[in-house]
Amino acid sequence: MTRMSTFDTIGDGIFSTEVALGEYDVRGALLVGDARAAVWDTLSHPRDMTVWLPLIGGRDLAVVYSHADWDHIWGTAGLPLERTALVMGHRACQARFAADVPGTLRERQLAEPGAWDEVQLVAPDTVFDAETTVDLGSMTLELHHLPGHTSDTIIGFVPERGLLLMGDTAETPFPVVPRDSPLAGWIDGLERWERDPRVRIVVPAHGPVGGIDILQRNIRYLRGLLDGAPLPATAPLTEFYRKTHEANMAWTMPGAR
Ligand SMILES: [Zn+2]
Repeated sequence: MTRMSTFDTIGDGIFSTEVALGEYDVRGALLVGDARAAVWDTLSHPRDMTVWLPLIGGRDLAVVYSHADWDHIWGTAGLPLERTALVMGHRACQARFAADVPGTLRERQLAEPGAWDEVQLVAPDTVFDAETTVDLGSMTLELHHLPGHTSDTIIGFVPERGLLLMGDTAETPFPVVPRDSPLAGWIDGLERWERDPRVRIVVPAHGPVGGIDILQRNIRYLRGLLDGAPLPATAPLTEFYRKTHEANMAWTMPGAR
């Protein structure tokens, strides 16, 4: 299987890679500090991590999962695990590795024999509830719980760089909203960051890298669902996002919640 992937430098010691998965693309990031490197999401296959290896060099590594959906966690075995001091995620992310995560991999391996044999599930060994901090030396990675897309979703913030790593908490054209999503809390969490003057660069897992406007568009979309007045999908949508928009509206219609 060949897959398109791209690599970008976002800032000094800050890199992103985006991999095409067919229905959509997924992006992860690498932060290289003086003391330690941190991988933000390992994407869907160990080969997705090959691009990071020369940049990590001999540094100690922290792996951080934005949440336990398959396209963010299946590549961990492609990293130098002997130098991985920390595998971090929300406490609910760790719990998912003993719940839905193995079943999703098994289903995919049965559906596409041979394609996912190299995937090894590596659960978080370091968890938190509300927030925590990882010192990378020349930069700090703050992790904050921001549930909504899933219960275990976190965002990452690097205050020295004004960099906000969103995972699936904000994306373009709009986020994937599950049934029973805590929409009001999700919106509050996004608004907190939208008002934070330190934020300069917003990096979603799906859709282009940009600025605060990504947060504003996601807030407007989610508020439309919460208010029972969903925004019309204006831009031409891929099949994936057309179906997502329909499901997002169905879950949140009066009576569905
Ligand atoms: Zn995702």
